Amino acid sequence: MIFLDEISNSRLTSCEITAVIDSALCVGAGGSSGSLADKPIVRNSEGNLVIPGSQIKGRLRHECEKIARGLHWAVCYSPNPQTMCPQRAGLTKNFDRPEYHVSGYEGKHCLICKIFGNPVLPSRILFDDLICTEDPENLPEILRPGVTINRRRRVAEEQKLYFLETSPANTQLKFTGQIHLSDVPKNANAPDNANESDYAGALILTGLRHIHALGGSKSAGLGWLHWEFPNLPLKEAAWDFLAKGDGE
Ligand SMILES: [Zn+2]
Repeated sequence: MIFLDEISNSRLTSCEITAVIDSALCVGAGGSSGSLADKPIVRNSEGNLVIPGSQIKGRLRHECEKIARGLHWAVCYSPNPQTMCPQRAGLTKNFDRPEYHVSGYEGKHCLICKIFGNPVLPSRILFDDLICTEDPENLPEILRPGVTINRRRRVAEEQKLYFLETSPANTQLKFTGQIHLSDVPKNANAPDNANESDYAGALILTGLRHIHALGGSKSAGLGWLHWEFPNLPLKEAAWDFLAKGDGE
């Protein structure tokens, strides 16, 4: 077993999160196309259903970007490296503010990049895969075969057979895993550091609450879900910090 705190220089704060699936679950399986990253849910080697951590991270970044912009912080545009910090091609908002300084790194990095990273800045946040707590034995596989119809020739196209794997509806399946957030290294030149750890936690948990569904489309994707996570004692200073987006 690898202990993350031992391979990382800074201390990690970990928090267990659980996604509870409210609707029928639709799993890309068999001949479905697309890379692993496009699949909202997969199976691990033990046969457990898994929501990849990369899926959660991508969606959470997107939600946190929207929230930070709503609070008038200048935020870059991911995932294209050219429009992300520190390049920000074509972006005119004011990124030249003290909160966007990162000790040891050149250029300015927006609040979101400081948590989720960018091509030059490592991410402070790590996501485990969320693993379904239900024994796969208790989850009968329901495979619904489908074919792509060629409209012109009115025949099923070869090589276009796909399967949709669905789970029994409304079973409130739970997927559990951990989020790890590393502390900002202490630096006497950047007195704001203390508040930074706090703002990240506040922003992340607020962003999670905004993820109501996973998957490409809500009708064909993973379905609707809600989250369970511990009620962390977030400091008032974290919200005060986030509220200063317009620099007032
Ligand atoms: Zn950025």
